[in-house]
Amino acid sequence: MSDTLRDKYEVVIGLEVHVQLTTQTKIFCGCSTEYGSSPNSHTCPVCLGLPGALPVLNRQVVENAIKAGLATNCNIAPRSIFARKNYFYPDLPKGYQISQFELPICEHGYLDIETEGRGKQRIGITRIHMEEDAGKLLHSDEAGVGSLVDLNRACTPLLEVVSEPDMRSSDEAIAYLKQLHQIVRYLDICNGNLEEGSFRCDANVSVRPYGQKEFGTRAELKNINSFRFIKEGIEYEVERQIELIEDGDKVVQETRLFDSDSGTTRSMRGKEEAHDYRYFPDPDLVPLVIKDDWITQVRGTMPELPQEKMQRFISDFELPGSVAEVLTAERNFAEYFEACTRLHKDARTCANWVMGDIQRMLNESGIDIEQIPVTPQMLCGILERIADNTISGKIGKQVFDLMWESSKSADAIIEERGLKQVTDTGAIEAMVDEVIAANPAQAQEFREGKDKLQGFFVGQVMKASRGKANPAMVNELLCKKLRS
Ligand code: ADP
Ligand code: MG
Ligand code: ZN
Repeated sequence: MSDTLRDKYEVVIGLEVHVQLTTQTKIFCGCSTEYGSSPNSHTCPVCLGLPGALPVLNRQVVENAIKAGLATNCNIAPRSIFARKNYFYPDLPKGYQISQFELPICEHGYLDIETEGRGKQRIGITRIHMEEDAGKLLHSDEAGVGSLVDLNRACTPLLEVVSEPDMRSSDEAIAYLKQLHQIVRYLDICNGNLEEGSFRCDANVSVRPYGQKEFGTRAELKNINSFRFIKEGIEYEVERQIELIEDGDKVVQETRLFDSDSGTTRSMRGKEEAHDYRYFPDPDLVPLVIKDDWITQVRGTMPELPQEKMQRFISDFELPGSVAEVLTAERNFAEYFEACTRLHKDARTCANWVMGDIQRMLNESGIDIEQIPVTPQMLCGILERIADNTISGKIGKQVFDLMWESSKSADAIIEERGLKQVTDTGAIEAMVDEVIAANPAQAQEFREGKDKLQGFFVGQVMKASRGKANPAMVNELLCKKLRS
């Protein structure tokens, strides 16, 4: 599609995100929420939907919802109501899902995102409500088996976070989503795994010619399980809608499925087939009343949030915004860095190591920072020895690799391997002499003004010392010898 055509239209996006909570037990019964157990092993009369079984609300779910609400600047409703959303599907034995409708627990929030071209933008959060998940259908290939129902997931707790249609590009949608994702991870209320469906996003997308007041008709994209696919799905959808309008056709309101193989979306159901859920207040659950002191108490258990942490890193440690952003992407990572700064005063050096070698080794070994074999104390042992010139920065990297393997302290490794920097003038002088004698032609050229050869000579001496010579002393002695 040509840029001029694309530029005629404004994109409008609103997102609905389902956040699966990491509580030990389900939202309305005491069954375990553990993932991957044998089918139907975590079930009881409540989550099986047996007649007469009564739901009891999980306090932890409410507290997680309050945390999410506070972190996204919502009002927490003093009184909210659970409602039945009625529909039939084999993974929903009760024939209705318990959700919230007219009076959700959180409303009127927002997140601020940085955008390209529109500066800082406030994205409204219409509401956050609590609900139960449905079970899972397993479609078997085996003849005569058909589909099997697993109700382990039935009744596991979800938050649904509904945004206002405030985003104007796929990039803005991703920025909002990533921030929300980061927040639920910081709050430790969701594992954030998109692929496994623990953080699921439905994207509502419409377009309108610039200048038009009313929104265009939207399509809702479902089942997209990665940030990249969400962006692709939106991009495809925008072009599809623009082409329809340009051809004189109309966009119809419908639900569309994203197909990651082709990068396209296709119709799943139109508005005519849309459900009428016949919501009504669930008579089995009393209204949820939340007093201010409960909110205060929950607020007291919340960690510093990513945006605040980032701002604090920028001001306390004088780090560039981009560095602070990387360091605070994940809470454990940020805490690791901060632990280092308490042990080693040069925060910039700590940041370089954490973002460099620590990140690299985590990636290579595929482990989380919680399982890291090199503690902040151990890492700072290296940084201290570099700072006091016991070892060079380059040897420091060697010590780091050995530390990762052996979990030994920096001092032990330096001692064991004889890695102490050579600072004895006599010893370095001897090596310098040797290198000059072995390379008479280069020495001559250097004396005649080919300054570039300084690097060559430093390299040779460092090699001769197996990296242990103090580089500053090598430089100084080389200059003295070669210039004389
Ligand atoms: P429904 O009840 O059908 O899901 P909602 O009014 O709750 O509809 O809206 C669902 C989502 O769609 C919200 O995130 C909202 O911001 C978004 N939305 C509504 N209208 C539009 C539109 N014209 N274009 C894009 N997104 C929209
Ligand atoms: Mg909705
Ligand atoms: Zn149960």
